[in-house]
Amino acid sequence: MIKFLDLQKINLQYKDELEEAFARVLESGWYIHGCEVEAFEREFAAYCGAKHCIGVANGLDALILIFRAYKVLGLLKEGDEVIVPANTYIASILAITENNLVPVLVEPDINTYLIDPGKIEEKITSKTKAILPVHLYGQACQMDKIVEIAQNHKLKIIEDSAQSHGAYFGDRRCGNLGDASGFSFYPGKNLGALGDAGAVTTNDSELAETIRALGNYGSHKKYENLYKGVNSRLDELQAAFLRVKLKYLDDEILRRRDIARYYRESINNELIVLPSTSDDLSHVWHLFVIRNAARDTLQQYLSANGIQTLVHYPIPPHKQPAFLEQNATSLPLTERIHKEVISLPIYACLGDRDLEKIVAVINEWDGAKC
Ligand SMILES: *Cc1c(COP(=O)(O)O)cnc(C)c1O
Repeated sequence: MIKFLDLQKINLQYKDELEEAFARVLESGWYIHGCEVEAFEREFAAYCGAKHCIGVANGLDALILIFRAYKVLGLLKEGDEVIVPANTYIASILAITENNLVPVLVEPDINTYLIDPGKIEEKITSKTKAILPVHLYGQACQMDKIVEIAQNHKLKIIEDSAQSHGAYFGDRRCGNLGDASGFSFYPGKNLGALGDAGAVTTNDSELAETIRALGNYGSHKKYENLYKGVNSRLDELQAAFLRVKLKYLDDEILRRRDIARYYRESINNELIVLPSTSDDLSHVWHLFVIRNAARDTLQQYLSANGIQTLVHYPIPPHKQPAFLEQNATSLPLTERIHKEVISLPIYACLGDRDLEKIVAVINEWDGAKC
């Protein structure tokens, strides 16, 4: 079976350095908020081209804490509306509702699967205060258009960069394309820890300091609590692991781009809709998502032929039982995408033989057999 993602193989590439990082932290005797976190924050901020990076416990917390900080700073209040793509992972929406803000769902562009900038303005009301673009599957959103809309309507831009570490829009990277950005280092992400981890990047020093305090019990100074904060910290061990993997991220992205190019040039089955991108650097191919109306049949066929795939995602957020209040909403493009997409294996240590097999099996599919 060709695995959808082989985390064991991916991480064992760096076994010696990861073990060295573990030993360094173990022997230091210092496990929370120390020099590994400080160094990773500096290195990841530099990687993104952002002024500040604040390590937190996971990607959802990163997004929640950005909104929370804007509330503390008086720039957002309960009931304000946030524009968000309907076609996203549920965490993007939970970050909004967790803060008692109102998500306003916008349909995607059917070719890129990203929020359609042409459909944002019709959703803006006097209560709209922010846009949360999600660089889904690893591709940067059309930020020139989104920034222009945000400037015209005085909206904050909060990027969901959980899938897009290293992706560029123009000459700037995700994490430096809006007012603040949330990253996830969940093990399966392009930059993955060996457990949960996340970070916020921003160029706004006041926002950075507020987030830092909110994630540490609302405290800038030990035992002095300015806000009703939470405990959401990146720990020394995960930071040490992430420092190892950050060094190799650009190489892994290059390999992902090679695989994506190979798939796009070699898959010629007319039943399959391939992903499109206008600019090579804008996509880091966290996921390689193809589309066909008989998705379930295709998935069974691939599985029967030794190829494991996943679906990102089978049920859109507005149709989830958790969002009962949205269940009656009709978002036809988002719903169609969720019915038709399937993600192929794409990661740095996939062999050429595996890739050839995947392409051959897909090209032989006649739309019926499974
Ligand atoms: C993974 C992910 C998150 C959440 O990250 P966690 O670290 O799992 O909390 C948020 N948004 C998107 C788009 C994601 O893919």
